[in-house]
Amino acid sequence: MSYNNDEIIFDVIVIGSGIGGSSMAAILAKNGYKVLNIEKGQHPRTTWGEATLPQLSFWMWLISERYDFPEIKILADERKVTEHISNACGIKRSIGFAYHKEGENHDMLNESHQILAPELPFQSETHYFREDIDLYMAEVSKKYGVELMENTEVIAFKEDDKGVTITTKEGGEFQGRYVIDCSGKQSIISKTHKLHEEPTRLKSETRAIWNHFEGVQVFDKMFTKQELPGMKHRWHDGTLHHVFDGGWFWIIPFDNHEKSNSSICSIGLMLDCRKYPKNSSMTPEEEFQMFVNKFPTVAEQMKYAKAKKSYLGTDRIQYSCQKTVGERYFITPQAYGAVDALYSRGMISTFESMYMFLDRILGALKDDDFSLARFEKFDDLHRNQLDMHDKTVATAYKAFGNFDAWSIWVKVWIASKLYGDIWLFRSVMKYMRKPDKKILEDLDFNKAPFIDPLQQIIDLAFDLFTQAEEGKMSWSDASKEVKDALAGANWLPHQQIPWAQIEKRHLDFTPELKLPSIILWGKTKAPKWIQDQMFDFLPIPLVKMKIKEKLGMKVSA
Ligand SMILES: Cc1cc2nc3c(=O)[nH]c(=O)nc-3n(C[C@H](O)[C@H](O)[C@H](O)COP(=O)(O)OP(=O)(O)OC[C@H]3O[C@@H](n4cnc5c(N)ncnc54)[C@H](O)[C@@H]3O)c2cc1C
Repeated sequence: MSYNNDEIIFDVIVIGSGIGGSSMAAILAKNGYKVLNIEKGQHPRTTWGEATLPQLSFWMWLISERYDFPEIKILADERKVTEHISNACGIKRSIGFAYHKEGENHDMLNESHQILAPELPFQSETHYFREDIDLYMAEVSKKYGVELMENTEVIAFKEDDKGVTITTKEGGEFQGRYVIDCSGKQSIISKTHKLHEEPTRLKSETRAIWNHFEGVQVFDKMFTKQELPGMKHRWHDGTLHHVFDGGWFWIIPFDNHEKSNSSICSIGLMLDCRKYPKNSSMTPEEEFQMFVNKFPTVAEQMKYAKAKKSYLGTDRIQYSCQKTVGERYFITPQAYGAVDALYSRGMISTFESMYMFLDRILGALKDDDFSLARFEKFDDLHRNQLDMHDKTVATAYKAFGNFDAWSIWVKVWIASKLYGDIWLFRSVMKYMRKPDKKILEDLDFNKAPFIDPLQQIIDLAFDLFTQAEEGKMSWSDASKEVKDALAGANWLPHQQIPWAQIEKRHLDFTPELKLPSIILWGKTKAPKWIQDQMFDFLPIPLVKMKIKEKLGMKVSA
């Protein structure tokens, strides 16, 4: 369908129909607005961003409730994904980090970390087979009336006080009242307004090589029972990271549960460009194989692996913008900047931002008032999201250089995850007890109380590990200082979790009383500011759901 010379003026034009663009477009269309979504490629199309974390599931759950959009809640629970969307996706029940030294077998007994997140009846994490997930959201958006134009590339953007005009490579010209750019690094709006920082302010400097494989060995099968940590879930039931000085591999299985009809694992290699600058005389496949062969356990796991697609290799992947909103445009976190695949932050940032942005854009469309004042807080939100992720990733790459540093850093990261999750869980519990949208609105731009003290520990680790890298202090002194900082963090529950005991590397949050015991600590023993701002909720809805589950009753939330 061509809109050339048509009178149609769309309320919103969305550029890009990945999971972010389609979700945004669908919710706006459901609210009665005329939405055009322009997509360069065609679904089903492949992309990275396959592993989810609890924070993403929480944001999806919350968006679904706030905007009455049940289709997004399906994405927040692997059980629902498998039932309603696709059984080519994998389960994610654990996060594993296996540390490697060049030329040596991985020492599972002494140099591995496995973490199991709390199990909740209303959400669970997934390895998204993005072809199917993004196709699903694109179809949902069409169901609500979004005009999706595939195989159409936006090449120019103009704005005036009445709205925007979008031009496509195929010769189309489209008018809208507002444009949302969900297209990623190549964002036309960033280019038009020269928003990209050159060079980027980001500290991380990494690149990626990626493919899908068949025949990847189940990691657990490569070890004896005595060597394995004996956790409730296999390593293969989650995202496995093979970590080494200067980089890491991700292993994301899609074939890890009985309902799966997939035989595929996604495997990516991320490299620190400073340690491993791109070797332009090698193909991505040759370079990938070279790194696999440096680490005998990785090579063993990949012994029978066969690539399913062409290898994709990138240059440095970090980019950043100076700002994110204009008079008639909004660029999403993915178009604003990116750091690294480590810690699966991309989709969390997208959906966190969407949670707040939809409310503002729906108000602006209703009032026909797109003034910057409505959107100004997004510059800070996107900046903080990106910069905190960047510092976390940059510190992790430093910590890869020494196992003790890495081991304490894993604990710092888990503290950030656990508290980030509890912060959102708090709103979910409050809302389940009393479904008042004000509870959801209160989350907007509300900085969690633990962020500042956590940031201090991250900054300390970054500085100390930099000194250790530069030979100005020993790794053991640097690691000990970070360990002491974590031990002294009175805002963390030390009886429940051995934060500063680095020999305790495997953490299991699945026992039923684990999460309640942390909440009880938060409500009774935590410093008052943490009690008041973070643990001011009761997990009664969770307890009720767990009882129902035990009685074999259906739980819906
Ligand atoms: C190596 C790597 C690994 C990652 N792993 C994870 C992970 O495990 N977990 C996680 O949460 N995040 C991860 N991310 C980030 C994740 O990929 C993104 O956050 C996620 O894909 C964002 O979804 P989106 O819909 O906003 O953008 P995308 O999925 O990138 O979609 C953008 C769409 O815009 C289209 N487009 C681009 N330009 C134009 C144009 N000019 N005109 C029309 N259409 C256009 C593209 O074709 C594409 O379909 C990873 C990123 C990288 C680089």
